[in-house]
Amino acid sequence: MLPPISSQKPDELASWLVEAGEPVYRADQILRWVHKGSICDWSQMGNIPDGLKSKLSSSFTFSSVKLVRKQGGVDTTIKFLWKLSDGQYVESVLIPASPSFYGEASDRHTLCVSTQVGCAYGCKFCASGLEGFKRNLKPSEVIDQVLSVEALFKERVSNGRRLITNLVIMGMGEPLANYDNLLDALNILNSTWSANIGARKITISTSGLVPQIIKLSDQPKQYRLAISLHGATDGVRNKIMPINRKYPLSKLSDAVEIYQSKKKGSITLEYILIEGINDGIDQVPHLAILSERLRAKVNIIPYNSVEGLGYQRPSITSQECFVRALIDKGVRATLRREKGHDIDAACGQLRLKVEKKLDSKEN
Ligand code: SF4
Repeated sequence: MLPPISSQKPDELASWLVEAGEPVYRADQILRWVHKGSICDWSQMGNIPDGLKSKLSSSFTFSSVKLVRKQGGVDTTIKFLWKLSDGQYVESVLIPASPSFYGEASDRHTLCVSTQVGCAYGCKFCASGLEGFKRNLKPSEVIDQVLSVEALFKERVSNGRRLITNLVIMGMGEPLANYDNLLDALNILNSTWSANIGARKITISTSGLVPQIIKLSDQPKQYRLAISLHGATDGVRNKIMPINRKYPLSKLSDAVEIYQSKKKGSITLEYILIEGINDGIDQVPHLAILSERLRAKVNIIPYNSVEGLGYQRPSITSQECFVRALIDKGVRATLRREKGHDIDAACGQLRLKVEKKLDSKEN
């Protein structure tokens, strides 16, 4: 298997060029095409001689993800299913900040990327963990989700602007369980020679891996942190998130405070609202106390039901009551009406559906 070009750093590519008998200045040109060119293959590298293109194509793979399916929602959220080189699948979701996506380009697009195939953490409501953990994504497989979406929508952006301005690391997998590869990928995507996505525009979400949160607080970049909370008491979290038995809310809160003491920017608490599980008004005072202690804003996300799991999205009235009660307690809470309820938006769902379809074809 050839190494992927997208995770080559400038000095590594320069060394390869020297060995290949090519001028070192070509490294800048090649990296510019790969990270800023929104191109799909070597042939589109306009100023690179054919001989060098041929050496590149026999030494590196151009992209480590291949588009299998693209599903657009009526509200313009778009979900992508990628096939990896070993036949596994992962998903990304593009979320435009404004509905003008299909007309004038809107200013801000967020891409939600995956970091693992499957997930070992077994949150009861989640499609990603349904078939267990398969493997960690390599840095290139994270980077190529971003570069491939940029290439797919090249015609929608002009004047050298990029489509994706924000990243949320909230797709399939527990990001901090793939710490080193994730940080490698993000540090490249944050570089001026790559996508140049500002560290404060990159949000890493975790279900609550306490040692890795502390480790993240010691690295130099100002990445934003989001906690997938989904329960404001240990009782609720223990029921739906096995990680809470190892790292209960007291330990998690201590770790978040350490992160905050070293980083600027506020924390986000993500709270998927599930009927009869965590949508009781009794959770509100606990959530308010946590959000005050952690100086965190709270995103309430109505649950997207997952085939085969018995959980439901609460009614719109219950959703609004819950958020209103939080706001009344002084919490900065928003109800994030999930874009893409109609496109298998629950993370990991599209992958499961397509895998089942392909399996039944093969049998
Ligand atoms: S919610 Fe996140 S951590 Fe929990 S099983 Fe799903 S992907 Fe894993």
